[in-house]
Order: sequence, then structure tokens, then C-alpha cells
Amino acid sequence: MKVLKFGGTSVGSIKNIKSVKEIINDGDRKIVVLSAMSGTTNALVEISEQIKLGALDVAIQYIENLSAKYEIVIDELFECSETKQQVSNYIDNVFEHLRKLTAEKHTVFLYNKIVSQGELMSTFMFTKFLNQEGVNAQLLPALDFMRVDKSNEPDDFYIKQNLQRIIHENLPAEIYITQGFICLDAYGNIANLQRGGSDYTATIIGAVMEADEVQIWTDIDGMHNNDPRIVDNTHAISNLSFDEAAELAYFGAKILHPQTVMPAREANIPVRLKNTMDPASYGTLISENTDGEGIKAIAAKDNIIAIKIKSARMLLAHGFLKKVFEIFEKYETPIDMITTSEIAVSLTIDNDANLDSIVEELKKFSLVEVDNNQSIICLVGKEVVKHHETHRLFQVLQDLSVRMISYGGSNNNISLLVNTNDKVSALKHLNKYVFEFETV
Ligand code: ASP
Repeated sequence: MKVLKFGGTSVGSIKNIKSVKEIINDGDRKIVVLSAMSGTTNALVEISEQIKLGALDVAIQYIENLSAKYEIVIDELFECSETKQQVSNYIDNVFEHLRKLTAEKHTVFLYNKIVSQGELMSTFMFTKFLNQEGVNAQLLPALDFMRVDKSNEPDDFYIKQNLQRIIHENLPAEIYITQGFICLDAYGNIANLQRGGSDYTATIIGAVMEADEVQIWTDIDGMHNNDPRIVDNTHAISNLSFDEAAELAYFGAKILHPQTVMPAREANIPVRLKNTMDPASYGTLISENTDGEGIKAIAAKDNIIAIKIKSARMLLAHGFLKKVFEIFEKYETPIDMITTSEIAVSLTIDNDANLDSIVEELKKFSLVEVDNNQSIICLVGKEVVKHHETHRLFQVLQDLSVRMISYGGSNNNISLLVNTNDKVSALKHLNKYVFEFETV
């Protein structure tokens, strides 16, 4: 059995919905995980924000605009009047429910309820469309089996038991459709796997069902060796190891949700990245195998904060780093990059929720400097640290100011910290030196 996940663009237009049907309707049994139609989750987040601000008129306006968009899709997608009516009723109910929610007090629970509606609508519509086209497809509601535990980790045992149970209880089908992103929390409340989390849903399901392969279908032909929105002449990488893909996803390659690789790596299930608009292209295969050495790809992550912590007493002292780390631990703030000298330590975080409290505590025993608006550029590849071509990347230092470098933390990753204003230029320069073999 395979698990295939289709992103928002893949279900975002009539043409693409029809292409998805062609891709999945090949006679093999499979589970299909869907995102919300493109633009829907952003609109739902906005509706929730407006409710929070008390701008109910604006929230209602967003609801009406979104509802109008769905009316057009339903009208074009369904030929059979009975099915069209069924789908219209379902979608109308969702929007009626949203209108009613504008009268509720804003809470995390309300936010989660609102943003879950996108996947509920896309999966209902798509299953009905497949049925109209004569495909034997069944809808498996994710909220009947997808759950996270108290640490927000997937509750694999519960997911496996319940998913297998509902597959058995349902009429046998060739294609099972389910919602990505949404889940229950440990207390049974509606929750989600964070923005972009449908990829993660797919590998969680793939792992518990011991799938042969998980496929993530998007609108690009695989993971590229550099950011295609910024740099010309990038290309899709054919093969990546789980480690390489995890580093790239974590450090900014937008094609994959950062946690997606974990369940697949643990269960050793290959993940294939494919393009819905060009199904024949090879895409990227992520597996336990590594091929080639040296820098394979570059990715960048924005909204990074660099903190320099200086202590006169660090000279020949011990225990300084412990004190620093304890503060970050206390505020549950993960550290991404770190470099040290004899009297100072510089580190980066991407979560500023507790920045003020952290800085206040650090200031009790050190001098602290905070730089916002930083980007981590991460260069990934097997044994990249040892590779004879890696020196090329340091040519970038003559053109750009690099705030921090992390080299040797892992053999597969070198990270540079630059001001976000310099990111585009850094990515272009690195591309020239590393992939186009340009020398100065
Ligand atoms: N619809 C959700 C989002 O836009 C989840 C996903 O697409 O993966 O974040």
C-alpha cells in the first residue's frame, strides 16, 4: 500500500483536481492525504485573526469571499445534480458554522476549529468527485484516528489501532481519502500538526501502516539544489538521504514540512517528492541511501535572532555555558546554531516568544547583544565537511559579511548566518561558487 499526499495547489483548481484523479486512479490500493484548497487555510487564519481583533464585519467579508470561491468550484466540478446538491449542502453548512463562530470568544480551540475546515471541505468534495467519476473511493475522517499525545508527538499506537479499525469497518475501497494537517490533541480537542502539516500526516500514516512508499505531490518537480524563487538554473536533486532531507526541510527548503522525514526515517519508508503538473518527471527520492559526496543543496531560513552573550569571567572559567543553556531550557526555546570563543558565545533562535525574559536573565551575569532579521543559510550533503570542493564556499566571505559559521557540528551540514538583507545575494554567490564552479 502507498500513501500519497497532495498539497493545496494540487486540489486548488478544477484542472489540477482532474489531474490528481488521473494520477491516483491506477488500480492500486492507496491512502490519499489532502491539504485544503490553496488559499483556504490562509483565509481561515485571517478569519480567526479578525475575530480575535473584534473586527467581525471583516471576518464575515472573508467568509463570504471564500464561500463564493467554493460555489464556483462546485458548480464546475459536479455534473450530477444530486451530488452537486449534496456537496453544496455540506459546504453551505461549513460556512454557516463559520458565520456562527464569529460570535464566539477567541481561543486556541476556536482557531483550531476554524483552520480545520479547509481540509474537511477539500476531502469531502474530492471524494464525491471521485465517486461521480466511478472511482471506488471512501472518506476516512482523520479525527477518527489521528491524535497527538501530551508532548504533541503522534500517538502511533492509537493512530494504528484506529486507522486499521476504520479501514476494516468501511466498505472495501480502492482509494481511501483523508485529511492532512488536522488531528485531536491528547484531551480529544481538535488540533493540528502546524502549518504545512499535511506532509507530516502522510508520513505518520505511512509509518503506522508500514507503507511501501509515501509520495508527496506538490507543484514543483522535487527538492531543488537552491531556492528556485531566488536563484536561476536550480535543478531537482534525484536522491537524498533521510538526514540530508531532514536538514534541508528544517533549514528552509519550503517543499517539505520540517518534521515529515522523522516517521519515514524511523520506519525506513522511502519518501518520493513528485510534481502534480508534471507526473512523468522523476522528482526526488528520499531514502536511507546516500549517493555522491560534497554540497548537494543550499537552503535558507529567515526570521532568525542572533544573541551574543559575553562574560568577562568566562576566561578559564567553567559552568558559563551551562548557565546559558539552562535559561533557554527554562523558556523551552530551542537553539539552532552556536559558536563560542573564550569570552563569548553566539547562538541563534527562531522563536522569540520569550526573548525578553531570556535576555533579562542572561543580563544578570553577562553582556547581551541581540540581532534580529538574520537568516541561516545551510549547505547540506554527505561528508560535506571533508569534501575537497567545500573550500569554494568560503569564497563567499570576500563578498559578504557572515555573522556566524557552524562547521563540523555534523559531517553533513555547514551553516552560515547572514543578515536577511544579504540573503539573496549570498544564495546567488554560493550558487556560483559551489554549483557553477566559478572562481575569482
Ligand atoms: N492546509 C494547511 C496549511 O496550509 C496544511 C497543509 O497544507 O499542509 O498549512
